[in-house]
Amino acid sequence: MFKKTLAGMFGLLISLAACQSPDNAQTEQTETQETTAVADTTQRTPRPKPENYSFKGVEKKRVYICMDPTDDLFHQKHDCPVLVSCASTFRNLTLPRAVEAFDRYNCETCSADLAYVFDESAVRMETGLGDK
Ligand SMILES: [Zn+2]
Repeated sequence: MFKKTLAGMFGLLISLAACQSPDNAQTEQTETQETTAVADTTQRTPRPKPENYSFKGVEKKRVYICMDPTDDLFHQKHDCPVLVSCASTFRNLTLPRAVEAFDRYNCETCSADLAYVFDESAVRMETGLGDK
């Protein structure tokens, strides 16, 4: 009698699991896709070394970089979501060093205001002013 009940409960559990499995599979698939998308964004090939840059006014600015070999960004905010997702170690260094020694570009999330550092026309303008 007891055994029969147990078997019946087991059967019920199996059918419950069978009913739920399509939903579970779908949820898992969606999550996997999202993870892949994030990984693609983070692990892109680093851009070539920046060629045009000017550090006027930001020579002493300290930034953070992720020491991951696939990363080519520097961050102004230590809690920037892009930096937080860094799987490697962090370094805190000056902006010119991040760019010249580590080939870093400004992070669009926390350092979009520093894009001008790499603006070719801004570099030319500054050179022009220096000639005066
Ligand atoms: Zn950032």
